[in-house]
Order: sequence, then structure tokens, then C-alpha cells
Amino acid sequence: MKSIKAVAASLLALALVSPTGALAEDPPKLTLITNVNIFDGFNAERIENANVLIEGNVIKAVSTDPIAADGATVIDGAGRTMTPGLIDMHQHITFNTPEGTNTFKLEWDFGGAGALAGQAIRDHMLMKGITTIRDIAGNSRGIANAVKRNLLIGPRIYTSGGVLSHTGGHGDWGAKNAAEPSDYGVLIQQTYIVDGREDVIRASRRNYRGGAHFTKIMAGGGVSSEFDPLEILGATKEEIEAAVEIATDYGTYVAIHAYHDKSYQRSLDAGVRSFEHGFLISEDTVKQMAAKGEEIVWSFQCHMSVNSFGSYETMPAFFTHEQKLKGVAAGEGVRNVSKWMKEHGTFITGGSDMFGPGLLEIIKEDITCNVEAGFTPAEALKHWTGNAGKVLKWSGPLDPYPTYALGTIAPDSYADILLWDGNPLDNIKLILDEGKLNLIMKDGVIYKNTL
Ligand SMILES: [Zn+2]
Repeated sequence: MKSIKAVAASLLALALVSPTGALAEDPPKLTLITNVNIFDGFNAERIENANVLIEGNVIKAVSTDPIAADGATVIDGAGRTMTPGLIDMHQHITFNTPEGTNTFKLEWDFGGAGALAGQAIRDHMLMKGITTIRDIAGNSRGIANAVKRNLLIGPRIYTSGGVLSHTGGHGDWGAKNAAEPSDYGVLIQQTYIVDGREDVIRASRRNYRGGAHFTKIMAGGGVSSEFDPLEILGATKEEIEAAVEIATDYGTYVAIHAYHDKSYQRSLDAGVRSFEHGFLISEDTVKQMAAKGEEIVWSFQCHMSVNSFGSYETMPAFFTHEQKLKGVAAGEGVRNVSKWMKEHGTFITGGSDMFGPGLLEIIKEDITCNVEAGFTPAEALKHWTGNAGKVLKWSGPLDPYPTYALGTIAPDSYADILLWDGNPLDNIKLILDEGKLNLIMKDGVIYKNTL
């Protein structure tokens, strides 16, 4: 039997080898990347012919003048486009079994789900250029911690921990006739069944105690759940207010799952900051959201809503007939909503909500979908980089990466950097071509380099 030390050493060795077999280097003291055209996470105009100096895990300088850096490792970007690492703001890494949210009703246990998550975050996220994710329902607290401690290879993880759901809501995955919420998902804190203010307070605090960075609560019906038509209201006003109260006490924020005006209005009143989905809301509500500027965010799952929910046939295979019909309704609504969001200038982030076999492979199609839905390539990338980085900072004192900015190429930002052969601002589709992604750096460490 291996000693703990030996196991730790082999884990460390594992951490230094990428799945492609290439050696990922220890962070060099200084890395200078020269001759790149930079999309900084916000501006449609690239910074042309620039140089970027990285010290350890942080970007120190960005300049169009030469940067003197004695002893630096120099990488010639040869005119490639540099972007920040991508940020998927809507993931569920502990649901990567074939049955999605039905996972824990069927054959899977938490060990299996965790192992599949570990593989997914490495192969389908980090190695595809996604350097940070927001896991927004599911107990990924331990996995987030393992990545942070370099015991697992993967993107940075901000996690909501288990989601808060009322009985019969989008997070109630128990059996139909169960008298008490005693299913396995509840047992392992993937979800908390909360009815009433006291339940919400207890679950929120339990979640934060275990390492969650913000709260997710179900404020309306869902597509992939069994007992809740889309039209229903979820958490009561009092329950949402309780979630916001505790989140605010911890210096962080609340995200909601909802589709309709009524849920959105209730949540706007209660002080929620992150609004997921919303594919069936009215233009008036969109205007109200836009008026709040960057105080709140609309988290847009483009590919999931427009394409996956685009027709009955393209819905995930594990959905029932009723679930597929709900998805089709959402798919029809989103085309208007995304148009209004752009028109009225709502603050937007992007998130795939793509998880499980067959869907993990197409996470980045969420970005290209933004362009098909009418956003410019720069806007689409901004949703997945600069804007996302700002929202992650809303976790305040619970921010697991509090020292520098995320989602931007600028001094005092974490060195999460991609180099593309070509210009995604001209042709967004090139981000789907793995051959065009020449360099992946996360936290100053290079995981892929084909230059
Ligand atoms: Zn989701």
C-alpha cells in the first residue's frame, strides 16, 4: 500500500502532465508573450502588436512598446489573437452521468458523479480553453477545493453548492410518492428541499459553512424536472428574501432559476442579482433589468435554449414527453428575449448549461450561438470573459480567488490566457476548431502549447 506521501507525490506528478501527454510547466517567474493582438475581454477593438508580461500567476504588463524582462521565457505569438480564458457561468459538473438531474434516483452514487466531474472539468473544460466555471446547482464544493489546491486539473470553480428548492420544485428529484425529501440527492447536499424562511436560512448557512460562494434558489418551474410546470411560481417572496438576507450577511449574492415574469418580478423586488434563463419574460421586465445596469445580470444559456430546446427532436434523450414540451416553449420565447436584452443593453453573461455525455462536447457552441442570436463576436466573447469576471467578484469575502481580476487581459489579472490562430472577432466559429487554439494558460501554468 502506498503511503500518503507517495499518493500525494503521484497526484502532483499527475497534475503536471496534461491529457495530451505534454508537460505542463511550473509557473516560471517571468513569461513574456510577444507580438499578439489582444481582445481584452471588453473592447471590440483589439490591442494590435502587443506584448504581455506574466509574473507567476498574474499579468504584470500589457504594452504595444517592447517590454524588458530579463530572464523571462519568451513566447512569440506571431500575430495570433490573445483572449482571456473562457468562463462558463452556468455549469452542473456533478450531473455528468447520462441521466442528468435524475442521476441520483438511478444507479449512480456520489463517487461516480465526482469521478466523472473530475474528467469533465479537465478534458471538456480546461483543455478546451475554459479556465473558470460557475457551478450553479450541485455539491461541487469539494471539487472546487481540490482544483484550488492543485489536486485536480481543471478550471477555477465558483460554486453555489447544493441548490435551494421548494418541495416539488426544480431541485426536488425524489420519487413522486416519497413522503419526505429523503432521496440521495438531498442526503449528499446536491439539493436542499426548503419550505419556509427557517429552512432557507438553515440551508443557506449550511451551504456557506461547507464552502459555497453564492446561493442558487429555484424561483419558478423548470424544464428538466418532473413536478413543476414552467408557469408555476417557485420560492415564495419570503423565501427569496431570506436567501438574499443570508447571502448579503455573507457579502455575496443570490442567483435564481426561473422562466416567467412573475418569478423575475418577485426576485427583482427581493434583491436577487443573477437571473438565469428567463426565456419567457416580457419586454417590460427586460427594460426594468436594463435600467439596473451592472447591479444585476442576465445569465443567458444560448445554445441550450435556442438549439437544444429548439425543437422536440433535439431535446436531451433523458427528458420525458412533458419535459420536452416545456423545452420547446422556452425555445420559442428566447428568440424575442435575447433580442430585447441586446436592444435595451442589459448586462449579460454567458453560460452553457451543457453537461452529460454528448453535451459536454459542445459547451463552446454557446458562444457561437450568441452571434447567431444577434450579438457581435466581441459581445459574445465579452459575455464569456469580461462580464463574467465582474459577476464572479460579487462573491465578496467568499471569493475563492480574491486577489486579482478574472476574465480580462490587463495588469493585475490572473494569467488565464488563450492564443488563437486567427481572429475570432472576424470569425467566431474558429473557436470551435481545437487546432486553432494554440495556447492555454491558467494561473500562469501552460496546459497546451502547439506554437
Ligand atoms: Zn442549469
